[in-house]
Amino acid sequence: MPHDFSNKTAVVTGGSRGIGRAIAKQLAAYGARVCINYRASQELAEQVVAEISQAGAQAIAVQADVSDQTQAQRLIAEAQQQLGPVDFLINNAGIFDVVAHDEFDEQLWQRTMKLNVDGVFYCTWAVKDAMVERGYGRIVNLASIAGLEAKPYSIAYATSKAAVVGFTRSLGQALAPENVRVNAVAPGLIDTEILHGVDPALLEKLIELTPAKRIGQVEEVANLVSFLLSDESDFIVGQTMVVSGGRVNLP
Ligand code: NAP
Repeated sequence: MPHDFSNKTAVVTGGSRGIGRAIAKQLAAYGARVCINYRASQELAEQVVAEISQAGAQAIAVQADVSDQTQAQRLIAEAQQQLGPVDFLINNAGIFDVVAHDEFDEQLWQRTMKLNVDGVFYCTWAVKDAMVERGYGRIVNLASIAGLEAKPYSIAYATSKAAVVGFTRSLGQALAPENVRVNAVAPGLIDTEILHGVDPALLEKLIELTPAKRIGQVEEVANLVSFLLSDESDFIVGQTMVVSGGRVNLP
C-alpha cells in the first residue's frame, strides 16, 4: 500500500461522482474513514459508500450544498460526529462552463464563484480551527490548469480556479506553522461528467494540445491528492501541483 491512512478521517466534497469519487475510494482503500459529500446525487453517493463498505472500510454520505455556509458547517459537524475529528479535507466540488464572453451573465459568474471559491472557503473555515487546535490537518483543494493560464471560453471558471490557487498559497503559509498543510492540485483534461457538455471537436483539439495525447484518468488525480495528504509530502506547503499530461508547465 503506497500510503497508510488508517485512523484518519477524510471529508471529500462532491464525492458522489468523477474525481471526488476516485479520491474517496482511494483514501478508503488506504484505510481512512471517509465522509462523501454530495449535493443532489444521493443514489450515486450511497453507491460509493456501499462499495467502500464492501471493501471493509468505513464511509458515510452527507448531503450538503457547500456553496451555502450553514450547510458546509453542518457537513463538517456531521463528519466529526460520526467519524471523529477531521484530519483531511478535500475541497473537490466544483462546476465548469464553456461560454463565450458575450454569452455569459452575472448569474453564471455568481454561481461559479459561490461554489468554486466560497464553497472552498466555507468548508475550510468550518474545519481549520479544530485542525489548528489538534496540531494536525491536511487540506487539498481542486484547482485546475484553467487557473494557471488564459481560458477565453471559461472566464468565470478560470477566475474561480485562480482564486483557489491564491487561497492555497496564502493559507498554506498561514497554517504551516500549526502543522496544518494546505496544497492544491491542478488537473488538465480528466475523464468525468464535467466534460460531457464540451463540444467533441473542442475535446479533440484539447487532446491534440496535450503532450501525452490523451485525457487523464480520475485515479491519476487521486494519486496526487493522496501524496499531498501523506507524510511523504511534508515539506510541500501552499503549492499547486499540475497533473495535465504536460499541457501546462509552470516556470
Ligand atoms: P463532476 O464529475 O461534475 O462532479 C462534481 C461533483 O461535485 C459531484 O459529486 C457533485 O455532486 C458535486 N457538487 C456539485 N455542486 C455541488 C455543491 N453545490 N455542493 C456539494 N457538492 C456539489 O466534476 P469533476 O470533473 O469530478 O471535477 C471535480 C473537481 O475537479 C472540480 O472542482 C473541477 O473544477 C476540478 N477539475 C476537473 C477537471 C476535469 O477535466 N474533469 C479538470 C480540472 C479541474 P452531485 O452529483 O450531487 O451534484
